[in-house]
Amino acid sequence: MAALYDRVALIGLGLIAGSMSLAMREAGLAREVVGYARSGATRDTAREIGLVDRVTDSAADAVKGADLVVLAVPVGAMGEVAAEIAPHLAPGATVTDVGSVKQAVIEAVGPHLPEGVHFVPGHPLAGTEHSGPRAGFAALFRNRWWLLTPPEGTDPEAVARLAALIRAMGANVEEMDAPHHDLVLAVTSHTPHLIAYTMVGVADHLKRVTESEVIKYSAAGFRDFTRIAASDPTMWRDVFLQNKEAVLDILGRFTEELFVLQRAIRMGDGPHLHDYFTRTRAIRRGII
Ligand code: NAD
Repeated sequence: MAALYDRVALIGLGLIAGSMSLAMREAGLAREVVGYARSGATRDTAREIGLVDRVTDSAADAVKGADLVVLAVPVGAMGEVAAEIAPHLAPGATVTDVGSVKQAVIEAVGPHLPEGVHFVPGHPLAGTEHSGPRAGFAALFRNRWWLLTPPEGTDPEAVARLAALIRAMGANVEEMDAPHHDLVLAVTSHTPHLIAYTMVGVADHLKRVTESEVIKYSAAGFRDFTRIAASDPTMWRDVFLQNKEAVLDILGRFTEELFVLQRAIRMGDGPHLHDYFTRTRAIRRGII
């Protein structure tokens, strides 16, 4: 396929940026992929494994002459990175991000970007519990959704070109407004991660069951349910701090439902439990 961008700059070289680089290079979607990460160790690893065409030692150098810049750092670092790169962005360039929260990132990044630079925020609904420059793989985005949340007035051509790149990496693109994105993701991703972390915390604090018993006898429930609790702590700290309102809303509803189930168990209310599990099983079975 013909290259869609001349130079793509990836800021942050972890799971998502690494996967983007591999997917873009495999399909020839950019003439050059340049990368920068704050940590020297990450840059060394990226060089060693040839993750991108060129690793730079500053964010400013990475974005010089780039027609697409991808911010792939934890959401709490997006604003600081945008401020750092803003004076070095090429006129007409598109800046996108891959952050798991959208409204807070728009507020943190948008004000730093100069006139004539297009900002098209995005979020690939694809990931694993692994992080860092060695975690990426080219097929990560295949058949997954990639949501774009361009603020009103964003240049439609910049959106269309980025959408073409994303589709060429194998993902499906949909547009959504940022606050709605944040609510949807609070239900489908953020709150489940919090609950998974909590379940591991419960096991950790339960002194009558030892850590080695939890690990050794981890049955399907604990093992499947808590896989996502192995995810990167910095990324998830930032997600909860940056999507506070939506997560607290969903968490409040979760707690209420949990109390109702707790009461049904205490009262021996089998029909309630059976009805509840029948309804929720039907929903869960609709997800492949
Ligand atoms: P990661 O931990 O694998 O990589 C993060 C990278 O950012 C690392 O290279 C780190 O060195 C770099 N970094 C951190 N702070 C920086 C700074 N101030 N300046 C420059 N580089 C910095 O994380 P990831 O999973 O690739 O996540 C990146 C972004 O993608 C996050 O915003 C996350 O919310 C989002 N995201 C993650 C997933 C997932 O499942 N992991 C899925 C979708 C979106």
